[in-house]
Amino acid sequence: MNLPVAQRPSRIVVDLDRIAGNLCAIRAHVGVPVMAIVKANAYGHGLVAVARHLQAQGAERFGVAFVEEGIALRQAGITLPILVMGGIFGHQVSQFLAHDLEITVSSLDKLRQVEAAAEAAGKRAQVHLKIDTGMERIGVHSYSCGPFIEAAVASRWCGLAGVYSHLACADDPASPMTALQLERFLEACGHFTRIGAPMPVRHLANSGGVLHFPDTHLDMVRPGIALYGVLPDAASRRTIPLQPALSLVSHAVYFKVVKAGNPVSYGATWAPSQDTRVVTVPVGYGDGYPRALSSRGQVLIRGKAHPIAGRVCMDQFMVDIGKDSAWNEDEVVLVGHQGDVSISVETLAEAAGTIPYEILVGLNERIPRDYRSD
Ligand SMILES: *Cc1c(COP(=O)(O)O)cnc(C)c1O
Repeated sequence: MNLPVAQRPSRIVVDLDRIAGNLCAIRAHVGVPVMAIVKANAYGHGLVAVARHLQAQGAERFGVAFVEEGIALRQAGITLPILVMGGIFGHQVSQFLAHDLEITVSSLDKLRQVEAAAEAAGKRAQVHLKIDTGMERIGVHSYSCGPFIEAAVASRWCGLAGVYSHLACADDPASPMTALQLERFLEACGHFTRIGAPMPVRHLANSGGVLHFPDTHLDMVRPGIALYGVLPDAASRRTIPLQPALSLVSHAVYFKVVKAGNPVSYGATWAPSQDTRVVTVPVGYGDGYPRALSSRGQVLIRGKAHPIAGRVCMDQFMVDIGKDSAWNEDEVVLVGHQGDVSISVETLAEAAGTIPYEILVGLNERIPRDYRSD
């Protein structure tokens, strides 16, 4: 292990080429433009590093959740179109315009707010209309979106860069909800044709839609988690050759023998039935490593999986290596490969009783990120 003294012996290693490779694989599969979703710190992989690499590798556009994320991308030199997918507050519109960010307009009221701000700034806004086809989150219900679409088409201060909706159940290939949402979305888009207006770019598919529902690909897709090589759900199928881009690696900081019956960690919830060897790893829930993995998760040491012993602490946790050997400073893999064995984000999520998304975005800035690309 060769680390400068001031750096933590724990690392998130991000393979940027794999993210770019996943983008290519998705594009080849769908045959339409891809909006690369980089919200929530690029799903924990690092917003700016990921976006810069994808821009250099020929990505066509980005999607984020909040205006702050869009501004951070502009300040980092990202010049591609960026859609902010979250709901807006009227006072934010001038920021969207100043940074050339595309706006999600999700109601007639918000359309009026955007128009007013655009007129005041003397600058046309680029907007995507948000239609609600069953998520019941933001957006105008598909069954009553006629007046909304007409007002947007008539707007002098809004350019219609797109119209979109969001799928609620596409991570499950067996859910009938997706077909229903697609039908509602196409019916809503039909309104542009009925009033003789040009059809904006229609987009609907998240990763689940990209993987399982070709009919939802339409004019553009919006994959997030699939870009990072992770499947959305245990029910999802790997219909595209995607490669996971993130590993989480640390090193053993302590080794001891724990006598039979002596409990390990907070709450004394776990004790070995016979004398055993226990390794301490300097990572904890303060880094976003889930406490729910207490006595449930596994890590890799010397090419073998070993169980977490007792509760995960804020900055450390213990591992029961039984009769195996380990040395201080040995590599410990929390996510990724070691020799022939591996631990995926999907497995970790299942053990923690959550979804892969929450594992990835939970990994916070306390752990340094190392970027790899050729
Ligand atoms: C987060 C998000 C996506 C990407 O979702 P994934 O399941 O990660 O592919 C797409 N569209 C919208 C509106 C989102 O909020």
